[in-house]
Amino acid sequence: MLGYERLAVSRISRGLVDIKSFHDTIDVADLLVRLAQIVRSRRHSGGLRPVQWEILRYLSHANRISRCPGFLALYLGTTRGTVSQTLITLEKKGLITRERNAFDGRGTLLNLTAKGRRTAASDPLQELRTVTESMTGGAALGEGLRDLLGQMQKLGDLKPFGVCRDCGHFHQEAEADRDHFCDTLNEPVSEEDTHLICLEFNPEAT
Ligand code: SF4
Repeated sequence: MLGYERLAVSRISRGLVDIKSFHDTIDVADLLVRLAQIVRSRRHSGGLRPVQWEILRYLSHANRISRCPGFLALYLGTTRGTVSQTLITLEKKGLITRERNAFDGRGTLLNLTAKGRRTAASDPLQELRTVTESMTGGAALGEGLRDLLGQMQKLGDLKPFGVCRDCGHFHQEAEADRDHFCDTLNEPVSEEDTHLICLEFNPEAT
C-alpha cells in the first residue's frame, strides 16, 4: 500500500474522514485513471516516443533556470541516465540544443530549436487542452487538479513544481507596464515568464 493510501485508511479508521467523502475521492481517483488511459493512447505521434514528447512539452513550459537535465529528470520522475539518452536522440533529430547555463555558470541549458518549437506545437495532447479550455468549469478544474497534485507531492515527499503566482518568492507588480519580482532570483520576472514551470518554486516560502 502506498504512503498516501495508508494515511487515508488510517484517517478513516480514526473517524477523521467521512466515509462518503472518501468514496467521492475514490470516484475521482477512478476518473483520473481513466483519463490517463485516454492520454496514454494518444502519446505516440509524429514519429516520437512518449518520453520524447514529454521532454519537448517540458522545455516549452519551463523557465530559463529550470531547463537543465537534472531538473528535467526530477520532473519526469526518471534517472539522469535515461534523460541523457533521450536528449541525445532529440539533439540528433534537430529538436533541441544545449548551451552553457549562464545562471549557474556550470550546468547545461536546454533549448528547443525552431523545428523543436514547431513539433511541440503539434503536441498530441493539444486536443485535451482544447477540450478543457472550452469547458465551463475548465479553470476551476485546473485549480482543483493543481491543488490535488500539490497535496500528493507533499504526501509522497516529492519536489513540488509550479509557477510564479503560487510561489512564496513572487512579488506581483500592480502596474501593468512593469515587471514582477522574484526575491530568490533577485531579479524582475516578466508577465510571460510567470506562467513557466520553475525549479526554485516554493509555495511555502515567506
Ligand atoms: S517567484 Fe518562484 S516560481 Fe517565480 S521565478 Fe521566482 S522562484 Fe521561480
